[in-house]
Amino acid sequence: MKIHGSCHCGFITFEAEADPDKVSICHCTDCQAGTGSTFRTNVPVAGASFKMLSGEPTIYIKTTAESGNHRAQAFCPRCGSPIYSTTPGQGQQAFYMLRVGTLRERDELTPKRQNWFRSAQPWLAALMSVPKNEKGAA
Ligand SMILES: [Zn+2]
Ligand SMILES: [Zn+2]
Repeated sequence: MKIHGSCHCGFITFEAEADPDKVSICHCTDCQAGTGSTFRTNVPVAGASFKMLSGEPTIYIKTTAESGNHRAQAFCPRCGSPIYSTTPGQGQQAFYMLRVGTLRERDELTPKRQNWFRSAQPWLAALMSVPKNEKGAA
């Protein structure tokens, strides 16, 4: 399916083709720190389908603790929204892991797999029983 992305401030916009069956969550501690949240939701896209329409992300190279692999983490230089990760290098890479929260079609991109579940926050399973507001905190 065609997907359309934008960072929080709108500086960076992009589009790509994604397979909704490939959406996954990562609970690893790198993703917790990198999102400032509890887990990251990703969908991979082929580099050939990934087009930046505006803006240029800042790239940060991270050595992942477990594998020792290097990953290029792209985020908006103005608002800090995470955009994607990919293999380090110049030019188009083979695949990009897009951050689903930046995608207009996020409601249709439901996770099919959870990775690094051993690092998942233990309170996640009970989240639906936590009191809810339909809008922001009252
Ligand atoms: Zn931005
Ligand atoms: Zn992760």
